[in-house]
Amino acid sequence: MVTGDSSYIKKINRSLIVQKIIEYGLISRADLSKITGLNKATVSVQVADLLQEELICETQLEQYSIGRRPIMLSINKDAGYVLGIDLDYKSITYTISNLNGNAVFETEQKLDTDDYDTIVQIIIKKIKEYQLEFSDSPYGLVNAVIGIHGTVNKLDESIRFNPRYKWIQKNIKEDLQKEIRIPLFIENNANLSAYAEKVYKHHLSNNLLTVILTSGIGSGMIIDGDLHKGYHGYSGEMGHMIIYPDGEACRCGNHGCWELYASEPKLLRKLEDELQLTNLTIADIQTFLEDGHVIVKSYFDQYLRYISIGLNNIINLYNPETIVMNSQLLKIYPEAVEKLKGLLISSVGEYGELVLSDLGNRSCVLGACALGIQHFLDVQEIRLTLPERTETHTEKSPV
Ligand SMILES: [Zn+2]
Repeated sequence: MVTGDSSYIKKINRSLIVQKIIEYGLISRADLSKITGLNKATVSVQVADLLQEELICETQLEQYSIGRRPIMLSINKDAGYVLGIDLDYKSITYTISNLNGNAVFETEQKLDTDDYDTIVQIIIKKIKEYQLEFSDSPYGLVNAVIGIHGTVNKLDESIRFNPRYKWIQKNIKEDLQKEIRIPLFIENNANLSAYAEKVYKHHLSNNLLTVILTSGIGSGMIIDGDLHKGYHGYSGEMGHMIIYPDGEACRCGNHGCWELYASEPKLLRKLEDELQLTNLTIADIQTFLEDGHVIVKSYFDQYLRYISIGLNNIINLYNPETIVMNSQLLKIYPEAVEKLKGLLISSVGEYGELVLSDLGNRSCVLGACALGIQHFLDVQEIRLTLPERTETHTEKSPV
């Protein structure tokens, strides 16, 4: 066997071993051998390397019913840290996660600017601060993954278009990397959300679709186990699927796009008009629903109909195993999921399950952290446990 092949096989074996250690949390060498199908000698050699590199650690179980107490292996969670960044409009969330996927620090930075160059400098400053702050661990801050609320070219990871900031063709990776030496990865926020749903919640689902209802509608897709990005990387713009041929005019140039009817602000604005109120919030709607407000309930039911029209199309296109609806509004309506299911009446479209997201507005940043861990540990797939929410610090705009 030539050296190239043997080092390649060694790399694959190592990746598999690391993947299983993360998945099981605590596992013995013997069980690793059984689960991976690798012989005990191979596992021992790889484990010795990983121990030396401080990427894993050994623990002797305190209590064990029979025989010798086995030595268990786990990821050395504090060997290094990843930084997930959610670059939302006028707000950036930074989450530092250990290698187990647990957030150790989270801060939200408000922005008073939408100038691209200024924001790039703000992010550079923050990453450098975190690099210094976490430099005591063996690997320090190992990488950062940035979620962009817009289209991201999958080849050079540049932003093609960010609708709210109105940024067109910005190579943010290149601009940041001029001053930042750790690896950076740029990804669309909905893709990161879909990835987070799989990594943290729906481990076994290989055909997962997440629909994010916020000011617009975003969608991320895992198809046959992989993130589906399309030719350029711009797939998943479900909000711009046309549901009314002669409907309202959309900023994309078409008419009757789904997000003009089913994004969350649409329901709020319609209810404001109907009830002659201003600045309605989701909490207000929740109160109306709890009080059995007939008009609010009927508008909500109509809103669910609009959502179901788009879902019906998506289901027919992708035959998803899991559909995760990420929406604050749907969360406040106890019957939302059952009603949506009732509206999906096509005898052709099939799906496995329709659920609400438990990750909410953290899905993007959690996906960013998970992707950072996957890149650093160089594993094919990771399964993590949803972390407890850490306290989020809020900072004012630095400019
Ligand atoms: Zn549109």
